[in-house]
Amino acid sequence: MIIRHPEKINKPISPIKKKPSWIKSKLINSQKFFSTKSIVNKYNLKTVCQEANCPNITECWSKKHATFLIMGDTCTRACAFCDVITGKPIAIDPLEPYKISSAIKRLNLKHAVITSVDRDDLNDGGANHFCEVIKEARKNNPTTTIEVLTPDFLRKGDSYKKVIEAKPDVFNHNIETVPGLYRIVRPGSRYFASLELLKNVKKIDKNIFTKSGLMVGLGENKDEILQVMDDLKSADVDFLTIGQYLQPSVKHHPLDRYYKPEEFEELESAAKSKGFLLVSSSPLTRSSYHADEDFAKLKKNRVDQTNAQSIS
Ligand code: SF4
Repeated sequence: MIIRHPEKINKPISPIKKKPSWIKSKLINSQKFFSTKSIVNKYNLKTVCQEANCPNITECWSKKHATFLIMGDTCTRACAFCDVITGKPIAIDPLEPYKISSAIKRLNLKHAVITSVDRDDLNDGGANHFCEVIKEARKNNPTTTIEVLTPDFLRKGDSYKKVIEAKPDVFNHNIETVPGLYRIVRPGSRYFASLELLKNVKKIDKNIFTKSGLMVGLGENKDEILQVMDDLKSADVDFLTIGQYLQPSVKHHPLDRYYKPEEFEELESAAKSKGFLLVSSSPLTRSSYHADEDFAKLKKNRVDQTNAQSIS
């Protein structure tokens, strides 16, 4: 039996709270779901939908939307909220760019989302591989827009610039939680390093949309959430996603509470009033949930904003 999280063996047991009625995965038994699955399997690809046990998998895969997880299924960090396997990762598959590109074609994706495990073991944190995957995907799918959801490349110098050079349409890096919880929830990461990364992406290429995501329910308070919104806005982030933390197992960070749907609406209004180009906030919002529709909204909102600025 694989022990998915060896670093959590000695953690205390935190019973999982019963889910409220509004946290319900949609059960769709569609042919498209199985067709997505067979394409993912055919190319032997990993997806974050499966590896992180995403509650939206039936809905997304039934629309043929899967988020590819590159550089293996094993993460070198040990975040307390995440269900992706942790440990010593395997070598990078040099054919992965080709496989991802082929799967994008077979799935006929208008907008592809590519993420990765954290690869602290690599000198560049995997930035060059991200670049290769983007380039190959573009070559074979010239009309598909590309969104990347990257690690923080902490202590990897300027390696992230390689990802920017490949010009993804959207550069997403999740802030995940409020700074006061980083030490226990994201011990291997640094809040201000994540902000700095997002800020630098926009500084280097203002045409790339920047995006970040926050989970709620880990024990943060409202003032801390509003502070994160201000910090992300100062880092010129265009798009903010806010979703409910779901505790993956009794050994993961204990869920503090489930936010009500109306609280997500309040957070959405607060974020919109701060001037983000787009905000998505709901219990089941995840970074890549509805990413294709949201990309279309982002583009439209940017055009509307530019027109409004030129009139005033
Ligand atoms: S929300 Fe993202 S990770 Fe979850 S199933 Fe959909 S595409 Fe996959």
